[in-house]
This record gives sequence, C-alpha cells and structure tokens, in this order.
Amino acid sequence: MPPLKIAIIGFGKIAADQHVPAIAANPRLELAATVSRQGKGVEGVPSFTTHSELLAADLGLDAAAITTPPSVRYQIARDCIEAGLHLMLEKPPTMTLSEIEDLACLAKGRQLTLQTTWHSQHAPAVAAAAEALAGKHIASMRVTWHEDVRKWHPGQEWIFEAGGFGVFDPGINAFSILTRIFPGALFVRNAELSFPENRQAPIAAEITFSSPVAGDDLHGSLDFRRSGSETWTIEIRTTEGMQMILSEGGSRLELDGRLHPGGGPGEYPDLYREFVDLVDCRSSKVDVRPLRLVADAFLLGRRKMVDPFLF
Ligand code: NAP
Repeated sequence: MPPLKIAIIGFGKIAADQHVPAIAANPRLELAATVSRQGKGVEGVPSFTTHSELLAADLGLDAAAITTPPSVRYQIARDCIEAGLHLMLEKPPTMTLSEIEDLACLAKGRQLTLQTTWHSQHAPAVAAAAEALAGKHIASMRVTWHEDVRKWHPGQEWIFEAGGFGVFDPGINAFSILTRIFPGALFVRNAELSFPENRQAPIAAEITFSSPVAGDDLHGSLDFRRSGSETWTIEIRTTEGMQMILSEGGSRLELDGRLHPGGGPGEYPDLYREFVDLVDCRSSKVDVRPLRLVADAFLLGRRKMVDPFLF
C-alpha cells in the first residue's frame, strides 16, 4: 500500500519538534509538503507560503496536519476538507466549539477523516491511570500545571491574544488527561482567571471542579509564571483511600507509593498510528471535551488583573 502523502500546515515549534520525526518514523506516511509564511520547512520537501498555494499545487496529497495557532485553523481546515484531504488537527482543534462542530459535519459529509489530537492522552501512563480509577469514587483531586511560558512558548505573542488560550494552551493538556481518566462526568464549578493588564488571555487560573462521582474537593491550578522546571501533575485520592500521582504530563504513575511502568510508542508516534488507522477505516475521532472545559472556565471565570507580562 503506498504511503499517505501528508502536508504540515503551520511550521513552528511543535511541527519541527514532534510532527516531522513522527511522520518520518511511520512507514505509512510520507511528508509531501510544508506551509510556512516565513518559508521554514524541511530540506528536500516542497514548501509553500500559504495553504491556498499548497492546495492549488498538483501534489496528489491525501492528508494534512494543521499545526498553526488555533485562531487561524478553522478556515484552513475548511479549505483542506473541501479539497478532499483527511485532517489531523493539533490541540486545541479550533478556537471555539462551534467551529469544530462545523468541521466535523463537513468532514462527515465528505467521508473524510477528522482527528482532534490530545497528545497528552497518549502519554505512557495515562491508560493505566484510567484503568486504576475506573468505577471509583473520588475524594479529592489536585491538578498542578505550572510551567515557564518563556521556556515552552518563546516569543509566541499569539498565545496572549484573544483566542490564544493563554495558560489554557498547556492547561488543556491537563484537561485532556482528566477527561480520559476521570471515572465520571466532570464540570467546572468556578474559576478565577488572572489576566496581565497588557494582555487578552490569562496567565494563570485557579479552577474548582464538581462531579457526580466525587466530593467537593476538586481543584486545578494553572500558571505560566513558573521559572525553571515545570510541574505537570494530577493527584487523586479515592474514597477507598487509593492515592494516585500522575506526574510529568502523564508519563509517570504512582499508585499508593508504587511506581507503575508506562507503555506505548510515545505521544506523537501514537497519534500518527491512530491517524493512519482512522484513514484506513474512513472514520473520525472528534473529542471536544477538553475544549468544552476550557470554554466553561472562560464562561464562569471571575477576572483578576495582574502585573503586565512581556516576553
Ligand atoms: P509556534 O511555534 O508559534 O508555531 C506555529 C506556526 O504557525 C508559526 O511558526 C507560524 O509559522 C504558523 N502560523 C502562524 N499564523 C499562521 C497563519 N495565519 N497561517 C499559517 N500559518 C501560521 O507554535 P507551536 O508551539 O508550534 O504551537 C502550535 C500549536 O501546537 C498550538 O495549538 C499549540 O497548542 C500546539 N502544541 C504546542 C506544543 C509546544 O510545546 N509548543 C506542544 C503541543 C502542541 P510561519 O510564521 O512561518 O507561518
């Protein structure tokens, strides 16, 4: 079977760090083109400065991975679906819930694959954490997602624009793990969002959750102002007394003090494995739950002004 010819649209940090090596390592995929307004890309691979130029070129493309910031993704995705391409969308899939719903309908109508990717759900210890919590009642939960925005998003001004998600850009990774491992429905009950006075998106957020399968001690803390190392940890205690610590962004699992071995090929290789499987079956995977939790935090959140932020 010939490999699927795939293009990467939006060539920044995650495209270079993760998508290019994951595509290169998958024999079912061939990187056929890249799109970058600044002309970045991969040596020997055709590159275009707009997605319209890419779609107008006769490359025989099968698919595209869209790795731009979320604010511009909808129109690019729509044009790609209309051009007959299967699509992988980086997280968060679109800026709003309405946009992803529209893309899902469009892809379904064309019998094309649409995959929303939540890379943290594919971290090595997440499946084991979900298994350990299945059927349990939750007594307490602490989510700590603190990182240095200058280290992980150097110079990415878009992240603090309206629609850039601010600290929810990494925070949605925590939410994507929660929606995978939590043993029942999970809601945002209230939130306090800290906006730098010169920015349109929050730099920190404190969130209280509620759930029909938990008591009322469920909290999340997201913060971009950490310097040095990061903490990406979810700590959960069940009413039976089981203590779970899922740390390192879903890579390390401790249950009652005992380390559990992780598994799997790695986040992005596994996302591309799943993408090829979806294309082979002409099916889609559209999961909006992490985006919905973020939208609810913005709907319910109280706003607090904090010091201005400059990169
Ligand atoms: P980034 O480094 O800023 O890269 C995004 C790229 O998209 C830019 O380099 C830019 O390249 C291109 N772009 C921007 N506006 C565009 C437009 N209007 N049309 C076409 N291309 C445009 O950001 P990133 O960190 O790679 O993040 C991109 C997405 O990946 C985000 O949704 C983020 O949540 C997700 N992600 C990031 C990480 C991470 O660690 N950074 C991890 C996982 C997922 P040109 O200027 O050359 O066009």
